[in-house]
Amino acid sequence: MVGLGLSGAAAAAFLARRGHSVLAVDQADTPALRGRAAELADLGVEVRLGIPELPTEVDQVVTSPGVPPERLEVYRERKIPVLGELEIGCREIRAPIVAVTGTNGKSTVVTNIAKGLADAGKRAVAIGNLGTPITEWVDREEAADCVVLEVSSYQLETIVEFRPHVGVVLNIAPDHLSHHGTMEAYVTAKSRISMNQSIDDVLLLHRDLSEHQALQKTRGRLYWYGQGLPPSRDGLSLAGGVLRWHGGEADWSREIKTETLLTHEIDNLLACVATLHLLGVSADSAVRLFRDWIRLPHRIERVAEVGGVTYINDSKATNAHAAIAALRAIPGGLVWLVGGEGKGEDLSDLVVAARGASISSVICFGRDREVFRAAFSEDLKVEVRDTLREAFDLAAAVARPGETVLLSPACASFDEFNSFEDRGDQFRGWVAALQEARS
Ligand code: ADP
Repeated sequence: MVGLGLSGAAAAAFLARRGHSVLAVDQADTPALRGRAAELADLGVEVRLGIPELPTEVDQVVTSPGVPPERLEVYRERKIPVLGELEIGCREIRAPIVAVTGTNGKSTVVTNIAKGLADAGKRAVAIGNLGTPITEWVDREEAADCVVLEVSSYQLETIVEFRPHVGVVLNIAPDHLSHHGTMEAYVTAKSRISMNQSIDDVLLLHRDLSEHQALQKTRGRLYWYGQGLPPSRDGLSLAGGVLRWHGGEADWSREIKTETLLTHEIDNLLACVATLHLLGVSADSAVRLFRDWIRLPHRIERVAEVGGVTYINDSKATNAHAAIAALRAIPGGLVWLVGGEGKGEDLSDLVVAARGASISSVICFGRDREVFRAAFSEDLKVEVRDTLREAFDLAAAVARPGETVLLSPACASFDEFNSFEDRGDQFRGWVAALQEARS
């Protein structure tokens, strides 16, 4: 077992309970990992922490969701099979599986599909990257009518038999290109979601993915969703406030209100409603999601208004594609905090979005602050600070009433924080302190 995060530890226990002789390794050695190691030792798992080299005296490798596939090259060279936690867990799931992949929106869509199913009276669970590890959930032996999973392209690389009844691809933007190398390789990884589908299964794609032929291969039925979907396509469209399902005899339409929703949220909602429809939920029940939509924390989250300035936490925007969604969604007068650990992405689309966004200043921070300064300084007023804290203080000082301070960093957080949640929580804390100081 490679990696002893939550999913890795759950998978090691899962395998040990099934009588396998398990060696679990992690390159880190922390108190939390030692705690997990002690519990696993009770199940007969041999644990090695803080080891830089992966052991090769094994017959089979199971990998945690977050392990970059290039780390596992040593096994490929030796022809030792590598499976993911997703694969071994899902082999024991009997309920239909919905798998959602894409560069952005997965957690939000998975959460809302599960909500829509639950509201329609089905026993649905959202597990995997979002919460309970898949193998842990399988061992609990809970009954479910449907299992909803968020699936990353890393995870799709190690599937063998994984077969979602409904596969959903939300969008594809160059995020993990440093790993996948080319956009084509990234698309190929995503296209594996449907490789084991059979005629009873369904693949649901966003309309903007129509140029990627490799994604459209499935033995099942292919459906699309999107705002202004071309009428020749089967699937779910939204135009002029009318939501319409195009699918032969089962066509239906409903009028809906979308004024309070952001553009990318509407896309996400369409993905959810289409999935619910494909799972047999009635149209009336499925469209209720437009009213009861769950917004997750750290995703374009309005924190507070202090002295007439609105503060928005979009710490989960760890790539340019997500930050573009925020720049497009939030009305002008923006003081934008951007920076952290960049992914070496091409920033040209982000620059175009920033130009169109009525930004009063850009404040770059963190490890890659100079990369962002260089990208934006031609078009916009750019300031640079070493840390997010310093950037925040500057933003609070320069933002005028009516403006918005937006943390949408387009970068990972690990240069300064433990996680995107940690970064967002600290941001919220600073806003709360400002509020207190003013009252
Ligand atoms: P994921 O699980 O794929 O990371 P999240 O739902 O956690 O997705 O959202 C991650 C980031 O992407 C947030 O900043 C959010 O505002 C943004 N986002 C969500 N849905 C979309 C979308 N359809 N297109 C672009 N950005 C999106």
